[in-house]
Amino acid sequence: MLPGARGPITRDAPRRRAAAMMQDEYRESGRVRVMGFPAGMFQTNCYIIALDDTNECVVIDPGQDAMPALRSVFDEHGLAPVAVVLTHGHLDHMWSAQPLCDEHGIPAYIHPEDRGMLSDPASGIGPQLSGFIQGMEFREPGTVKDIQDGDLLELAGIELAFAHAPGHTRGSVIARTQVATEDGPRDIVFSGDTLFAGGIGRSDLPGGDADQLIRSIKETLLVLDDSTTVLPGHGGATTVGHERATNPFLR
Ligand SMILES: [Zn+2]
Ligand SMILES: [Zn+2]
Repeated sequence: MLPGARGPITRDAPRRRAAAMMQDEYRESGRVRVMGFPAGMFQTNCYIIALDDTNECVVIDPGQDAMPALRSVFDEHGLAPVAVVLTHGHLDHMWSAQPLCDEHGIPAYIHPEDRGMLSDPASGIGPQLSGFIQGMEFREPGTVKDIQDGDLLELAGIELAFAHAPGHTRGSVIARTQVATEDGPRDIVFSGDTLFAGGIGRSDLPGGDADQLIRSIKETLLVLDDSTTVLPGHGGATTVGHERATNPFLR
């Protein structure tokens, strides 16, 4: 799991295979819909992804106070969640993971390096920031599954390709999938707090590493096509090409 232990060539090959597989799959099984809303005081983007022709969905980063909005989305679209995916262990991304998972009897997926934050969120944000959760109890969802670098998981019929992207936290990951559009298939990537529109994640919290963060962005995100849509953990969507050309932190 050392960054750089796998070179760009060995990383790229399985990724291309995954993309090819996904194109075939989408022709047969409908379009992926992506819904989302900012949750809680940190305005953390919670995403819901579902194929058009199923009633199953995956929830990415259910943050603080996400449950009421999630229930509305589930009701409105007739969806039931089958898995929760966490881009990393920070409190603002996993706050509602345990109630959501346990209410629906579904697993949470997280990189093992960040798993400890599920039951001890203060360990991920340090003593100064964690004052406001003093006395609050957090625990892991009933079922927690590992995300490893290079994993290709099919959840709710949707293929998600994961890459380990440490730097914001030790266990940050990005997740790629593909959606059908009128102009053909388009790659999308959930970048968590690794890359934002015009910004990058902070690296001053426990486990953060500024150099590693830049390396992760270059090795896992800037290798993607310019047209890839980036859906970050905070703020609006962007594209890989736009960030490559304009993001001041990537110069
Ligand atoms: Zn974070
Ligand atoms: Zn965040």
